[in-house]
Amino acid sequence: MECTHKKFAKETIEKEIFDLKFRHKTDVCKDCGAYLRGKEFEKDYMHWLKRIYKKRRDKFQVQCSFSNNLLKCADSFLEDYPGISHTVLMRLLVTVYVNVVDVNEKLASKFDSLLDSEIYDSFLNDKDKKKINIQFKPKMMLDLVAISEVTDMRPYQIAEQGALKMMSAITSQDKKLKEFWEKEIRSYLEIFLKAA
Ligand SMILES: [Zn+2]
Repeated sequence: MECTHKKFAKETIEKEIFDLKFRHKTDVCKDCGAYLRGKEFEKDYMHWLKRIYKKRRDKFQVQCSFSNNLLKCADSFLEDYPGISHTVLMRLLVTVYVNVVDVNEKLASKFDSLLDSEIYDSFLNDKDKKKINIQFKPKMMLDLVAISEVTDMRPYQIAEQGALKMMSAITSQDKKLKEFWEKEIRSYLEIFLKAA
């Protein structure tokens, strides 16, 4: 039977993230040990993360491997955006994928059904790979951690997969996928590219 959390006591909880411990005093259920994540908790947590972010940028970095053919396609896409590196593009692709596509179940499954598997697989299976460190902001890193907790995937795998899907849509000549990209995703990426 699920606990209905009737009796609480103030306790200091420890939450582990990025191999560090966040401590916070909050209401803890006396029966099951669940703790309350109210406004105070979230505020404190964000403050703590921002402090960590200043000192430990490496904790907000994800190391991905991308095939050279994918990076070549990225570079040719970026010819229209001088000054933006393919590392920055990968960060933007992951950001748009997670915040626009992945949060919208309908959009995500439509995207998957249109995905150009030939291109996706060529990016995925190319043995010639390069490691790239992508630096995220705290909020984005939290999103990746949250997704990783429910999908059994590591944050770097989520980032790789998102970037691969986005790059295969950019590269594909498939008419339906192109239409979908233009209508549903492109404008979001443009906003980020302009701000980068
Ligand atoms: Zn409880």
